[in-house]
Amino acid sequence: MKLIFENSIEGRGCELLPACDVPAVELPIELRRAVKPKLPQLSEIDITRHYTALSKRAHGVNCGFYPLGSCTMKYNPRIDEEIAALEGFTNIHPLAPAHTVAGCEEVLTRCGEALAEITGMDAMSLQPAAGAHGEFTGLLLIKSYHHSRGDKKRTKIIVPDSAHGTNPASAAMCGFTTVSIPSASDGCVDLNALQAALDDEVAGLMLTNPNTVGLFDKQILKITELVHEAGGLVYYDGANLNAIMGVVRPGDMGFDVVHLNLHKTFATPHGGGGPGSGPVGCKSFLAPFLPASSIKTGKDALQVRSFYGNFLVIVKALTYIMTLGAEGVREAAQNAVLNANYLMKQLEGSFEPAFDNICMHEFVLCLERFKHDTGVSALDVAKAMIDEGIHPPTMYFPLIVHEALMLEPTETESKSTLDDAALVLKRLYQRAFDEPESMHSAPHKAPISRPDEVLAARQPVLRYEFSHE
Ligand SMILES: *Cc1c(COP(=O)(O)O)cnc(C)c1O
Repeated sequence: MKLIFENSIEGRGCELLPACDVPAVELPIELRRAVKPKLPQLSEIDITRHYTALSKRAHGVNCGFYPLGSCTMKYNPRIDEEIAALEGFTNIHPLAPAHTVAGCEEVLTRCGEALAEITGMDAMSLQPAAGAHGEFTGLLLIKSYHHSRGDKKRTKIIVPDSAHGTNPASAAMCGFTTVSIPSASDGCVDLNALQAALDDEVAGLMLTNPNTVGLFDKQILKITELVHEAGGLVYYDGANLNAIMGVVRPGDMGFDVVHLNLHKTFATPHGGGGPGSGPVGCKSFLAPFLPASSIKTGKDALQVRSFYGNFLVIVKALTYIMTLGAEGVREAAQNAVLNANYLMKQLEGSFEPAFDNICMHEFVLCLERFKHDTGVSALDVAKAMIDEGIHPPTMYFPLIVHEALMLEPTETESKSTLDDAALVLKRLYQRAFDEPESMHSAPHKAPISRPDEVLAARQPVLRYEFSHE
């Protein structure tokens, strides 16, 4: 497929800008470009065809099953987009006088209140722009709290070895040292390892529950109690909230701070780089350290992002919560858990789950023995799924499971979609024994087969090189 610049023809174009209805202003010379920008020149139909062709080469949740573990690729109801597209929400400016944007203020307040209720927290900030950004913000809260009490020796954050990579990264960005503790053989927190790591230098523990292997840690009350006894605080990574929303609350499990991923749990589209939203909630004793997300709040509060966060994402999340209602939110979580267990069960006799247990909203398969028997890796299976119209599961995560494939079917998938997916996976399982070579070279039908991921990460080609410059 050609790049848009390669389709450009000098002089072609489609100017759709309306006539200027305000007095023209001459920009000062020092603000003007010396050279005109090099924009591709195309007619409207060429542009439409270009982007339609591009979109056909990508797999989205609107194209087919997307069981990408940990990412909660649920269907995003159209009504969320419709509400977020209302002019009252799109045609505003963050510096508009407060009395002209009272409705937007109400959206922020109501969304904050709903999320606080769902998580069992007392206060919420909607400012952070992603989960990782929320982690950073939440850890700043923990740091500010200890410092406010003159307790400056607490420089360590405990993170289980099953954690998402952003957890230790956020802790490091916040100036903490991370202490990694090994998980027990059941994939949950090893209480002895936790106890051994706790001392008066520990600022807090970061935990995902259900955890990254899709299991709910039943010792959670004991865990949060141990950390509190040692003077630390407990941080809840809310990326897996989809399994428990409306059923059980992090605040009631003993957590002090949480982040949520609105782009995962609360049905705002993601993938392809955003926009995201990672609200942070906390118990009342931490509220004074929280970034503001109200238009009325004073200017001296912590600011981690410009203005009030990704506002339209918040509008979509609130629409989602209000259209589902309290009952619907709980039902979504219950169906997410049901779907994951159903799919895991359907795979019996083929790929083996890493943990022989009832799972929450996702499960991890361990392909170590399968690879030993067939030579076919988790990567090969994931690539072969692309030819079958299914987005690959999350691969090689969490790190504590070897040859891991992590599947999260989400509540919006029907039984027939899950049945079809189970058939595909069983077929691939058998194919690995019968014709392993065809799996090593998959996918065969995708526009790109196996990109050199290292080269793509180290030397990305991100801009078009004009030949005659
Ligand atoms: C996705 C995820 C994160 C990070 O969230 P982003 O919004 O991608 O920054 C953190 N922890 C877990 C468990 C996740 O799945």
